Amino acid sequence: MAGTAGAVRLVVEQDEIELAGYAGRASVGDLIAALARMRLRPGLATVGCAGCGLCCRDRVPVLGADLPRLERALGLSRERLLSDHLELPERPDPDERAARIADLARQLRASPAEATLLYEWNTGEPLVPRQADDGFCHWLRDRRCSVYPGRPLICSFYLCNFGDRLSALFDAIVRQGVWHSYVALGWIDRDMVAHNPFVSAGDPTQAPLRAFDVDVAPLLQRLADTW
Ligand code: SF4
Ligand code: SF4
Repeated sequence: MAGTAGAVRLVVEQDEIELAGYAGRASVGDLIAALARMRLRPGLATVGCAGCGLCCRDRVPVLGADLPRLERALGLSRERLLSDHLELPERPDPDERAARIADLARQLRASPAEATLLYEWNTGEPLVPRQADDGFCHWLRDRRCSVYPGRPLICSFYLCNFGDRLSALFDAIVRQGVWHSYVALGWIDRDMVAHNPFVSAGDPTQAPLRAFDVDVAPLLQRLADTW
């Protein structure tokens, strides 16, 4: 996934990698490419990835975009991928979702878009790879990823020392990617999440970065104020 050089600017601040800015046309693929370049910067072991492998112990979210990639890498049908390799979350109930969003809009005097954003931020468990007995992802073999070419996007994206702005962007990408996975599984209708940048992008890595760059903090505060 070739990124446009310079479309995303990252900086190192106090041993953290932070987002300095991005071009209006920048995509998720550009961010992944910028992070990949950051990993390769010489002499930056403390701000890049030390390769300890510990993040393969986290429950990596498998996003909608990952399903066909994993099917190709493993040579498996969707059915076999789901049954033999992934742990599935509880299936969302579209009626309950619609009712809860309507409740939030009423309760917070929020627009439908704001209520939807808040609902999606707080709900939706991801699909995750099965865990081996040692607690690591079951695709980790001899300290190497056995599905490397088709590994989940988050595995090529995540570094454990993101700054606040990069973390917030990462969280938004994961959140929308989880809801995209429900569409990919046929669990919810794509019209219900037509606003989702992954749903509208033909190639998920081309989803525009700016579509994920939303500040949910004021909405979360309004929700907290009602408790
Ligand atoms: S991102 Fe962090 S936890 Fe993951 S392998 Fe690199 S140094 Fe280890
Ligand atoms: S898919 Fe590969 S890189 Fe990702 S958590 Fe599993 S072993 Fe690690």
